[in-house]
Amino acid sequence: MSAPARGFDFHCHIDLLPDPVATIAACERDRIFTLAVTTTPKAWAQNRRWTADSRYVHAALGLHPELAGERHTEIELLEQLVTETALIGEIGLDGSPQHRNSWQVQREVFIRTLSAAQRLGGRVASIHSRRAAPEVLDCLAEHTTPQRVLPILHWFSDTVTLARQAAAQGCYFSINQRMLGSRSGAAVVRAVPADRILTETDAPFTDGADRESEPQEVVTTVKQLAEARGVPADEMTAILAGNAERVLAFAGFTSIFR
Ligand code: MN
Repeated sequence: MSAPARGFDFHCHIDLLPDPVATIAACERDRIFTLAVTTTPKAWAQNRRWTADSRYVHAALGLHPELAGERHTEIELLEQLVTETALIGEIGLDGSPQHRNSWQVQREVFIRTLSAAQRLGGRVASIHSRRAAPEVLDCLAEHTTPQRVLPILHWFSDTVTLARQAAAQGCYFSINQRMLGSRSGAAVVRAVPADRILTETDAPFTDGADRESEPQEVVTTVKQLAEARGVPADEMTAILAGNAERVLAFAGFTSIFR
């Protein structure tokens, strides 16, 4: 029997860290469930190999919106590979000025990915929505149903109003330490329903000045989340474990940590 996970990192770029194999081994040792998101379908095979024997680390198939401009032809590969996995990410839309010129192609890639997920059902997707939250929510409403696709908004950086709307549409939120450290991020963390909260690192993109981020940090994030929401840490831990189990059950992982 496997022991329960000590923490959950629902958005980590393991393949962008200095030593992916060592990080995976550390997650196994420390019992940190980690969703190893990818940024291009060509990275899937390698990530799948690295995580094939791992109990706690699971690869997700993605095509990052920031890469959609140059990598959009890989959408066909994604549509083939998505039959192999219930875990999708990183996908989404980015409306920042530097990615505006790829907006139409981003939309096409995102909609085709969501449509494939919807067709297959039982898919969990980790979604990027920087400066594009209303459009992301529109795409989800138009091309998916909560019965077939479970969306996790990763590092959500829009308003409390939109966060509440997203929750009403069935979205979960994966929260990292940088969000908790910003006023607007902390407001979102306090506003969303307790049963929709997950933790993430977005490593390596949440590095502090003096350290590299790593999945183990989610254990600390739980304490900060508990503080931000004014609940005891052990209660927060239990809530997060329940949420993680529900999300993973949606993807077909039945009680993998028992
Ligand atoms: Mn990311």
